[in-house]
Amino acid sequence: MKDLILVLNCGSSSIKFSIIDPINEIVYLHGEASSLNLHNSLIKWFIKNKVYSLDNKNFISYNYAINYICKKIFLKYNYKMFSKVIGIGHRVVNGGDLFKKSILINKDVIKNIEKCVCLAPIHNPLNLLGIRKFMDLFPKLKNNNVAVFDTSFHNNLPKRSYLYAIPTKFYNKHNIRKYGAHGINCLYILKKVSTILKKKVRKINIIICHLGNGSSVSVIKNGICIDTSMGFTPLSGLIMGTRSGDIDPSIIFYMHENLKISIKKIKYILNNESGILGLNNKTSDFRYSENRYNFSVVDKTTVEMFCYRLAKYISSYFFLIKKNIDAVIFTGGIGENSKLVRKITINHLNSLNFYIDKDKNNKIYKDFNFINKNNTIPILVISANEEIVIAKDTFKIIS
Ligand code: AMP
Repeated sequence: MKDLILVLNCGSSSIKFSIIDPINEIVYLHGEASSLNLHNSLIKWFIKNKVYSLDNKNFISYNYAINYICKKIFLKYNYKMFSKVIGIGHRVVNGGDLFKKSILINKDVIKNIEKCVCLAPIHNPLNLLGIRKFMDLFPKLKNNNVAVFDTSFHNNLPKRSYLYAIPTKFYNKHNIRKYGAHGINCLYILKKVSTILKKKVRKINIIICHLGNGSSVSVIKNGICIDTSMGFTPLSGLIMGTRSGDIDPSIIFYMHENLKISIKKIKYILNNESGILGLNNKTSDFRYSENRYNFSVVDKTTVEMFCYRLAKYISSYFFLIKKNIDAVIFTGGIGENSKLVRKITINHLNSLNFYIDKDKNNKIYKDFNFINKNNTIPILVISANEEIVIAKDTFKIIS
């Protein structure tokens, strides 16, 4: 076993962790604490195709999960493997204008990530929680923690796409602009498509639909992201697990002025009580509405709204790269697993020559799968993999 990198991805409803050989891209251990704070919480991890799990625990809290991962999974059950770890890579969702690329973490970096909390109010605090906890619990590795940012991938957005049509002083003085998110997986997908299609990255034209608890669409022209659905924060764009996605900003004024709801509460409603949860009134877990699609009007509407919004984004991005489009990609927990979402979304786009092949769409796959009908625009399902990108960047920076 060579020098290994531990990767920590503290998401909004899950914590993903892995131990990776960054040079040979071998994953020795990977796992996930999922559906945290929900009835179906689970911590499971894999070593050489063998699965281990923490059973009989519902409503696992974020803190409990982090402690269990550090103290039990790494320090107790897999210490031999863990002792080979030379660095820790952390996913950080929004680095704003302060971070354009991955960086070794020190006190100043932590302070600056804190400054970006307003740009990702659900995520950056959890990313910081993971950073602090791992630096504390693993003091020998304290100086070898690296932050990898989801926003770096969107650094090259053109001005026409990242500016908002509000007075320019808000950009010039206060950096209010579109930052995007999900960039780490976008970079992985871009490189993967380049390998699959045997085409240079700088010639790739794709639309990436990253659909999970957080969801976004990005359009890549000649290897560079030219637009993306998330904005100043990860609240805009698609309908998400608990986030509203795009709404008319006037709704906020109406809620505040006419319904007398405080700004703090509105922020909470839009970030934590909206999206799939707000629509089905039950859970942010997409599977719930998907499973009830055929017999519940509420859940059917929820799924239909999710797909319709997604189709609108795909069609508008399609026109930015139309002639040269290489593929549309579905990735993330929903993108990879929901045949229903892929079918309904693509059916909205038939007039643009997007067609799903039913058998291919239903196929269980590993790594990647083409699901389009022959002689139509390629549609690919690709497993998300932020971890490998984070491991490689971390290794490069600490070496
Ligand atoms: P992620 O944030 O990428 O981990 O994705 C989490 C989301 O994926 C949750 O909303 C899950 O309900 C959803 N998901 C996971 N498995 C499936 C599945 N088989 N069908 C539909 N949605 C799924």
